[in-house]
Amino acid sequence: MINIPKGTKDVLPSQSYKWQYIEQTAKEVARVFNIKEIRTPVFEHTELFRRGVGETTDVVGKEMYTFEDKGGRSITLKPEGTAGAVRLFVENGLSSTPMPVKTWYMTPAFRYERPQAGRLREFHQFGIEVFGSKSAETDAEVIFAASSFLDKLGIKKVKLEINSIGCKSCRADYNRALKEYFKSRLSEMCETCRTRFDTNPLRMLDCKEERCKEIGVNAPEILDYLCDDCKTHFEKVKSMLKEQGVEYTVNPRIVRGLDYYSRTVFEFVSNEIGAQGTVCGGGRYDGLVAELGGPETPAIGFAAGIERLMLLMDNTGVEYPQEPKPVIYIAGMDEKSRAEAFKIAQALRNSGISAEIDHMERSVKAQLKYADKLGARFVAVIGESELQSGEVNIKNMSDGSSEAVKISDIYSYLKQKEN
Ligand code: ATP
Ligand code: MG
Repeated sequence: MINIPKGTKDVLPSQSYKWQYIEQTAKEVARVFNIKEIRTPVFEHTELFRRGVGETTDVVGKEMYTFEDKGGRSITLKPEGTAGAVRLFVENGLSSTPMPVKTWYMTPAFRYERPQAGRLREFHQFGIEVFGSKSAETDAEVIFAASSFLDKLGIKKVKLEINSIGCKSCRADYNRALKEYFKSRLSEMCETCRTRFDTNPLRMLDCKEERCKEIGVNAPEILDYLCDDCKTHFEKVKSMLKEQGVEYTVNPRIVRGLDYYSRTVFEFVSNEIGAQGTVCGGGRYDGLVAELGGPETPAIGFAAGIERLMLLMDNTGVEYPQEPKPVIYIAGMDEKSRAEAFKIAQALRNSGISAEIDHMERSVKAQLKYADKLGARFVAVIGESELQSGEVNIKNMSDGSSEAVKISDIYSYLKQKEN
C-alpha cells in the first residue's frame, strides 16, 4: 500500500459536493462582479516566483517545490496564484486591451511547510487579480468581492483587517525608521530577521517567531509614515468600506507575506481555527507587473485558502447545502424487468433526471434498502405485472405515499414533482 504524501488530502466522493459548492459560490461572485476566469499552468519557471513573490519571503526562501526537469530547466510548482496571473497578463499582451482586466482563478498551490491544521503542502486558493486601475474604488471592489464570497458561504466569524503599507517613497522612510528601531536588538532576533534587516526590514514585522514578535511590539507604525497621496488613497478606501457597511479594523501590523505589495493590504482573519487564522489575504501590488517585464500597471488582488475556509465552516457550524441525491431508483425483479429499468433510467438521464438502478444483482429487498441509503427521492419497482400493464407505482420516499404512473409518463411525472 502506498500512502498519500504528507500534507496532502484526498477529496472523497461523499465530500466533493462541498468543494463544488464552494467553487460554484466563487463563480457566482465572479459573475456578478464581471470577473473572468484564467487558468495558468501548475508549474512555471522558478525565476517567475523568485522575482514575482520575492526572495525575502518565506515562500521563496523555504517553501517552494523546485526541481530540474529532464531538459535541465528549473521548474517550480506554483506556491500561489498571483505571479502566474501577472505572467499571463504580460505574456498575452493584455496590457494593450481596455483596462481594467479583471481575472479570477481557482488553483492548487504547493508549499513545503510543516503540515498542521490549516497548513498543507498542497492546498487550494480562490483568487481575484484586477489589473490596470490605481483608484481606491478598485481596492474597495476587490475587498467587497472577497467579503461577498465569505458572506455567500455563510461565514460569519471572520474579521476584516486592513492596512496601508504605502508606496516606494514612503516605505523608504519607514524602512529607515524600522532599522533604527530594530538595530539595538538585532542580535536577539532570528536569523531570517537578521537577513531581512538588510534586505527588507518591513518583513521583520511578519515574523512568526515569538521573540521576534515581542521585540517588534513597539516598532514604529507605517501609517505614521504615509505620504499625502497614500494617505488620501487609504482614507478613500476606508470611507467606501464604511459606506457599504463592511466592518473592518485597521491593523498596522499587516504587511503580507509577499513583496511588491503597496498601499492597501488586507486580511480576513478568524480565531476559530487555531494558529492559522488568515483565511484570505490580499493587497495592491503596483510594482509587480513592471517587475515581471510588463509596462507599469497598477494591480490589486487577493487569495482565499479553501481548506482553511472549510475548516472554519466546520468549526463554526456553517451548513453546506444538501448533497445531491438521485431523483429516482428503479428496481427490477427479474431479468426482463431489470432490462426495462435500465432503459427507463437511461431515458430519464438523457432528459436530465438523475436515475439509479441495480448494478450488483441484488434481491429486490436489498435494492430497496440500497435506494434508501442513497437517499433517492422516489422508488419504483418493476416486475412482470408492471411490464404487462405498462404502469408502475412510484413511491415518494419522504412521505411514503405512492402513485400509479404509466411507464411512458415517468419523466413528466417526476418533472412535475421537481417543481
Ligand atoms: P500564513 O501566514 O498562514 O503562512 P501566507 O501569508 O503564507 O499565510 P498567502 O501567501 O497570503 O498566505 O496565501 C493566501 C491564503 O492561502 C492564506 O490566507 C491561507 O488561507 C492560504 N494558505 C497559505 N498557505 C497555506 C497552506 N500551507 N495550507 C493551507 N492554506 C494556506
Ligand atoms: Mg505562509
